[in-house]
Amino acid sequence: ATPTALMVGTGRGAQLGILIKSPEVLETTRKVDTIVLDKTGTVTTGKMTLLAVHTADGQDEAEVLRLAGALEHASEHPIAQAVAAGAAERVGALPVPEDFANIAGLGVQGIVDGHAVLVGRERLLAEWAMELPVGLERAKAEAEAAGRTAIAVAWDGEARAVLEVADAVKDTSAEAIRRLRALGLTPILLTGDNKAVADSVAREVGIDQVIAEVMPEDKVNVVKRLQAEGRSVAMVGDGVNDAAVLAQADLGLAMGTGTDAAIEAGDLTLVRGDLRAAADAIRLSRKTLGTIK
Ligand code: ADP
Ligand code: MG
Repeated sequence: ATPTALMVGTGRGAQLGILIKSPEVLETTRKVDTIVLDKTGTVTTGKMTLLAVHTADGQDEAEVLRLAGALEHASEHPIAQAVAAGAAERVGALPVPEDFANIAGLGVQGIVDGHAVLVGRERLLAEWAMELPVGLERAKAEAEAAGRTAIAVAWDGEARAVLEVADAVKDTSAEAIRRLRALGLTPILLTGDNKAVADSVAREVGIDQVIAEVMPEDKVNVVKRLQAEGRSVAMVGDGVNDAAVLAQADLGLAMGTGTDAAIEAGDLTLVRGDLRAAADAIRLSRKTLGTIK
């Protein structure tokens, strides 16, 4: 590849909203045959909304929202922002947690108003030997069957509520998947979210391979496994948890609307957060190389 041709390619890339980290990236795009897509913030908007609150018997909804909202206010996760905003809207000002920790891929924990609060996956509660009562288990199952994410709330050793949050599929995602397939790539949806939600998103955008309920650190292993099968893997992600997996992929594509860590780890940045640019990037790179070989 001559330097001039690569510059032409990257200049056109900038026009399309694609930033290319180095010329070697173009070469890689020729080989990729599989594209792994993170769900939240990549295929979906990542802008979640709090849709419903299901409380266990005897629990006060306002108290649930105050404590869960306060803790989530300290987190940057899209789910956390939805819970905090939804809570503030319903109950007003939220207390400031006395202690807070983010548990990647599981949720948040901390101290609010002297209570030890957990907000996140059922699995986070299980780590503290707590389980959902039957009524909340049912609410969770119904929410997930409807393609929503169910978040558990517990404090002082007891499960108190299930919150329903959901985000929307980006209106450009289905078209992007069609274009990626047309380039000969096999799309795979990868997410830490539950299988029912992931399947519903996959169906909506036309992806038939789903790998769900994967912990952030295991996303790297999923990509390694695909590579061990002899595939050349592109990965698209946006989140702070996606940096390692973007680095592991043969071609890492970061959503420009995502975190700095993801952008730092990617080989390519899709400036506008539009997944169609992933297909544009691969087509453009192949074309750039094609004209000069
Ligand atoms: P994704 O792979 O879809 O980007 P993550 O790995 O960030 O998702 O999170 C996986 C799951 O962990 C979420 O679907 C949610 O159930 C739970 N979770 C993570 N962070 C939070 C949080 N701050 N509040 C509530 N739940 C959370
Ligand atoms: Mg994500």
